[in-house]
Amino acid sequence: MDEHKNAFNFKTLENAAAALRRNGFEAAVHASGAVAAAAVLELAAGGKKVGLGGSMTIAALGLPEKLAAAGCSVITHRPGMTPDERRAVWLAAQACDVYLASPQAVTLDGKLVFVDANGNRGAAVIYGPRKIVLLAGVNKIARDQEAGLWRARNVAAVANNLRLKKDNPCVRTGRCEDCSSARRICNAVTLLWKKPSQSDVLVLLVNEELGY
Ligand code: SF4
Repeated sequence: MDEHKNAFNFKTLENAAAALRRNGFEAAVHASGAVAAAAVLELAAGGKKVGLGGSMTIAALGLPEKLAAAGCSVITHRPGMTPDERRAVWLAAQACDVYLASPQAVTLDGKLVFVDANGNRGAAVIYGPRKIVLLAGVNKIARDQEAGLWRARNVAAVANNLRLKKDNPCVRTGRCEDCSSARRICNAVTLLWKKPSQSDVLVLLVNEELGY
C-alpha cells in the first residue's frame, strides 16, 4: 500500500479507536489481519468456548479453523442445519466465553452498526458472552451513524446478497431498494452507542480491507 495512504488509514483508525474508548469500549489498532487474528487466538487460549457471528472478516482471517486447531470449541451454525439446530447453536453462542463478530460499520464518533436478517448476532453483541470481540477492517469506517447505516445497506448487504445468491432487488440495481422480499437480509438494526453496561467489549480495528 502507498505509504501515505497507509499512514492516513492508521490515523483514521486511531481516531475511531479513541472515540470508541470514550464510549466505554476497549479498542486497539492492528497493522494487519494476521496480527489481529493472533490477538484473538491469545484471548481464546486455554480451549475456550468461542461463538461466531456470521462474518466474512472472520472467515477471511481463517479464524474458525485456527481456533479449532488451537483446541477451542467453536460454536457456529453450519449449512444444512435445521431451524431447531440453528436456534440451539445461537443460544449456546450467547453463553460462550468469547463471542467474535464484525460490525458492518464503525463510526468516527465511536458507534458500532450491525444489520441482520435474524438478530442472533445483535442479541449476542449486547449481552450474554463473557467477552465480545469485534473485528473491523479499515473499509468499515464510516463518518457517523447515518453513514454507517447507509454503508450497511448499500455496501455490505448488497455484497452479501450477491455472495448468498439471494434474488433480492439490490442484486440487480447495486443499491438497497428497501425491499419487502421474503428473502430480505436487513431486518434488525443493532446500534451500540456506548458499551452495554454489563458487557465486556473489545474492538480490534485493522489497517487492511476485510469482509464487506
Ligand atoms: S434491497 Fe432488501 S435485501 Fe437488499 S439491501 Fe435492501 S433491504 Fe436488504
